[in-house]
Amino acid sequence: MQSGVQVPYHRPSIGDEEIDEVVRTLKSGWLTTGPRTAQFEQEFSAYANVPHALAVNSCTSGLHLALAALNIGPGMEVITTPLTFCATVNTIIHTGATPVLADVGPDGNIDPASIQSRITDKTRAIVPVHFAGLPCDMDAIWFLARRHGLDVIEDCAHAAGAFYKGGHAGAASPLTGEHSAASVFSFYAVKNLTTGEGGMVLTHDEELASRMKILSLHGISKNAWNRYSDRGHWGYEVLESGYKYNMSDIQASIGIHQLRKLEGFIETRTRFVDLYNSLLADVEEVERPPEKPDCRHAWHLYTLRLNLERLAIGRDEFIEQLKDRGVGTSVHFIPIPLHPFFASRAKLRQNHCPRALALYPRLISLPLFPAMTEDQVEYVAKTVRQIARKSRKHVWAAMAAVGD
Ligand SMILES: *Cc1c(COP(=O)(O)O)cnc(C)c1O
Repeated sequence: MQSGVQVPYHRPSIGDEEIDEVVRTLKSGWLTTGPRTAQFEQEFSAYANVPHALAVNSCTSGLHLALAALNIGPGMEVITTPLTFCATVNTIIHTGATPVLADVGPDGNIDPASIQSRITDKTRAIVPVHFAGLPCDMDAIWFLARRHGLDVIEDCAHAAGAFYKGGHAGAASPLTGEHSAASVFSFYAVKNLTTGEGGMVLTHDEELASRMKILSLHGISKNAWNRYSDRGHWGYEVLESGYKYNMSDIQASIGIHQLRKLEGFIETRTRFVDLYNSLLADVEEVERPPEKPDCRHAWHLYTLRLNLERLAIGRDEFIEQLKDRGVGTSVHFIPIPLHPFFASRAKLRQNHCPRALALYPRLISLPLFPAMTEDQVEYVAKTVRQIARKSRKHVWAAMAAVGD
């Protein structure tokens, strides 16, 4: 084994195109929401094939905005997944509504059968998360939503570049025309497409789009850009108490060029995943991440699953040994019920998620980003194989464990 090899968990791919555009924006004199944000919205809307796009300062604010604009609030329940970032659940709590957790299926995504079991007369919405970039079973989710009169808000934080049955994640199904009320993307630093910090809300509903736009900027009827186009008229009205969630043109300058590179990013991610998969195919101590034939995985994350019954060490020790050999990793996610902020709610029957809790100790996210080299992918795979082989539980020990 080579010493001194270092593979970080992530490094963003920012090129001269992004840098030059940011410099042009800085020199233009227009820094906040303006022409570049409008351009980024138009181009993202065209790429995903959804008519209305609103750029925001994070996916978290976009999720909150969509929930608020759909009038979700106290006394209502919103069903989401335990295998997500805290933001998905926090934004539900911020509206005053009650988050309810449905368990995940074998693919790590929210399980429609578990959603169905959580629906009560208080349920108002479902927030599925396309975990790791693999689309959820949207047909089943839309079916439940239609039958029970619920809104669907897709957390597409991992899903830029993902396709569900031929349509972009967050868009309408080309087969049925069904779609969610809103879909929210993240452009956080480590995501498939980054603006440093940022997000985008997509919707097919023109009225919802205009309500979200107003709420995203204090509830003001016209934003600063419109006032500017109106040749400096000073007038504005605050229609309702809104938020401060708008994207700046500095962020949009990065996003415009990241979007143009997205298809290439996904191609590279997919090539590295194929390489990981082939190099790890015969390592029985680990399981490769799930895929689905009718979806294009965006491969935001490569979530390796340890076969713990075949290993003499646990996930945390596995991660330590990777770190000792220079490989950075992460874990997606610490399930929501395990966080202190959720402790009192986790005890409730409606939030029991045994499958998510059983999956969690098996999960390791390996480095996967377009700026990696094939040599780095090979080094990571080789290191995983070495640790797995060295830590293999011997057959007699496994049999003794079965006999216990
Ligand atoms: C990253 C992430 C978010 C939050 O995105 P921000 O843009 O940082 O607000 C929400 N949900 C999931 C599943 C995420 O991974």
